[in-house]
Amino acid sequence: MSIMVPSTTPALTTPGRQALDSALQQLHQAAEHLGLDDGLRTMLATPRRSLTVSVPVRREDGRMDVVQGYRVQHNVSRGPAKGGLRFHPATDIHEVTALAMWMTWKCALVGIPYGGAKGGVAVDPTALTTRELERLTRRYVNEILPLIGPEKDIPAPDVGTDEQTMAWIMDTYSVNAGYSVPGVVTGKPMTLGGSLGRKGATSRGVQIAALAALGRSPEGVTVAVQGFGKVGALAAQYLADAGCRVVAVSDVTGAVHAASGLDVAAVRAWVEESGGVAGYPHADALGHDELFELDVDVLVPAALEGVITEENAPRIRARLIVEGANGPTTPAADEILAANGTTVVPDILANAGGVIVSYLEWVQNMQAYSWSSDEVEVKLRDLMEGAFREVKSLATERGLTLREAAHVIGVGRVADAHQMRGLYP
Ligand code: GLU
Repeated sequence: MSIMVPSTTPALTTPGRQALDSALQQLHQAAEHLGLDDGLRTMLATPRRSLTVSVPVRREDGRMDVVQGYRVQHNVSRGPAKGGLRFHPATDIHEVTALAMWMTWKCALVGIPYGGAKGGVAVDPTALTTRELERLTRRYVNEILPLIGPEKDIPAPDVGTDEQTMAWIMDTYSVNAGYSVPGVVTGKPMTLGGSLGRKGATSRGVQIAALAALGRSPEGVTVAVQGFGKVGALAAQYLADAGCRVVAVSDVTGAVHAASGLDVAAVRAWVEESGGVAGYPHADALGHDELFELDVDVLVPAALEGVITEENAPRIRARLIVEGANGPTTPAADEILAANGTTVVPDILANAGGVIVSYLEWVQNMQAYSWSSDEVEVKLRDLMEGAFREVKSLATERGLTLREAAHVIGVGRVADAHQMRGLYP
């Protein structure tokens, strides 16, 4: 007999819970490799601070809606907490915790002096007007105000948020402080202390990681990009600029494919005009799932978590996966890919370009100074290529996958920092 679950009961396993399970599994693997004791493991598995807030929003028709918001600071042993803010209807405390944990390892891996954090609001930003979004953002920031600050916790864009959201955060925080505090948030517009190169930074990092992992001329290398959004569209563009042939891209509206290669700039213009890749005239329509199974050299998942699973992993033909998204591959899928000889450049390495240039933006803000785009690009490239070399050589030396090696380095650095500082009191 089946047990009826009342519709008001939350599902036992949410995508957020699955993301957190993946993050914890990766942590425990790294901890095992590093021989960390149980106390330290538990500390690293638990967020330092988690805040859940209710955010009331006045709608245009006068109604009031209340949505849930979160800010999780996973770890602050190496510096202020750092990480994006996500507006997505399916976000929950588990997803935000997983994303915060990945930020901790990411910052440690690329050697920038931050801990890890993430924020989320369970809302569909496309269903709100600009004024509603502004009110929502400002009220959310007000609710998490005691947690954030340039020395404490620095939000940034993520799925569903952008430069405008960051400008409202900066303004709300600054009005409360009584003076302008540009360093409280990164990914700001240039006029408010943003950095040259921040907008395309995650995508530039994906390109740098992909080319480093390819280790051969990118000329004619075929690429499929899942998620033609903020990260994916520019990653596709930069890979095409480097000589790759981008043959398929997808977003929520659909997927398109052209074996001879897509004109990425033309697809971007089409998306700008029509709101999505679907219907792009110079390509064939493709099913969402089919994109993962194309016979391409490189697959770039650049949207949400948990899209490469044990279900579709056996049918993936790409030899190289470069994770523009956070957490796109489940641990079970990872095992299948490793057994099939597919190389995965993991999220905490492949998409670190965003937080690297966030760090550079924050450093410029703290010095009230700005660097040229060349200076930013050189620093980004140095940090990305340095981290890639370290991960690659540890993986080769110890017979690990790139993800395992990246986690061993990231988790190891956080554990070291914690041990050097000691436990208070
Ligand atoms: N949301 C981006 C990430 O997941 C950027 C975070 C940041 O710049 O702080 O890495």
